[in-house]
Amino acid sequence: MHLNTNDLNVYSPDSFPLSLYVHIPFCETKCPYCDFNTYSRIESMMPSYLEALRVEIEIWGDMLRSPILGTVFFGGGTPSYVPVEGLSSILDSITSSFNISEGMEITLESNPGDLNESTLRNYLNLGVGRLSIGVQSFDDQMLKLLGRRHTSEQALQAFELALKAGFTNVSIDLMYGLPEQTMEIWSETLDTVKQLDPHHISIYALTIEEGTPMENWIALGRMIDPDPDLAADMYLLAEERMDALGYCHYEISNWSKPEFQSKHNLTYWKNLPYLGVGPGAHSYISDCRFQNIKSPREYITRLGSENRENKVFSYEFPESVPVVEKVESVNNNLEMAETMMMGLRLSDGINSDNFVDRFGISPDNVYGKIIDGFVSDGLLEAVSGCIRLTDKGRLFGNEVFSSFFPVKI
Ligand code: SF4
Repeated sequence: MHLNTNDLNVYSPDSFPLSLYVHIPFCETKCPYCDFNTYSRIESMMPSYLEALRVEIEIWGDMLRSPILGTVFFGGGTPSYVPVEGLSSILDSITSSFNISEGMEITLESNPGDLNESTLRNYLNLGVGRLSIGVQSFDDQMLKLLGRRHTSEQALQAFELALKAGFTNVSIDLMYGLPEQTMEIWSETLDTVKQLDPHHISIYALTIEEGTPMENWIALGRMIDPDPDLAADMYLLAEERMDALGYCHYEISNWSKPEFQSKHNLTYWKNLPYLGVGPGAHSYISDCRFQNIKSPREYITRLGSENRENKVFSYEFPESVPVVEKVESVNNNLEMAETMMMGLRLSDGINSDNFVDRFGISPDNVYGKIIDGFVSDGLLEAVSGCIRLTDKGRLFGNEVFSSFFPVKI
């Protein structure tokens, strides 16, 4: 492969490092509620997939001239389903293609059933410092209904093993608003959180996604359609319990102990640049949003040796990367709207001075009418130079976020 990196005018890491998302599209089985770009029974593609991923990482390292990375996030899919050697080879490519910031956060998403002491130690040796465990529930009936492969007992063991192996930053994912989930079941799951005392907790409502088996089961009356009012009450209970345990509710769906916020996800919420590699991964760099092709097979083909031998990549940003599609340029108005939408997810909200530094105009000057309306409705509040959602506003977040699009100034 020959590289022609002349005339590049792409991302320059001004004052912040870049975040890298690495998509792993493999799952042992497909959960019936999941509409992520992940697949079961394609394990035979894993070696060629990992090779293609390495190629994409190297292309981006060249194209962006090895910028400094602040975070790496292995998500999916099920990164823990990939053998440690495979993850190691990807990390090798990352460290040889990018510059690494001191104390770079490396997160790996995992399923409880994949974790044992030796695997966990290997992750630590690779430099993975933050482990995210897809617990979802501590109730076996709920786990079965979600089509998860693990039991509550396995989730507890996985968490304990992670601590024993030496992890000092462990996050767990939980879901509420599930069919047949009662307040009592949810309350018991929250009791278990107290017992485990994790460093970080992500709590998401189940969304019934179009085209999933779960949507079909509900439509056919084979599964109960979750009650949104009950789900809202479950969210309020989670807020109350996490607050009582001393967690910081730093984003609508995320709680952490001090200093354990997800640095990677903060990049998204602060609307800062990130690069996504792998099929279907999204990126936001140099006023440009783009997405990779979704098919893992096509992804492998396009990055395969037959397609890249003797080919000169012009490296026109970003379309010439052979797996990039759906490129959208982000103008100033859109960037401001997205910054509002994402930033209001954070409990600190939007800092007006930071907004002025970035855009040369204050949020009040751009969105004064919209903000005033939500302040009167009790959904937004202005506190210490920041605009943020109120407690009530967090329940109507989507309504607030959408109102910032589009805006003409
Ligand atoms: S394990 Fe996660 S990514 Fe895989 S199918 Fe289930 S919910 Fe989707």
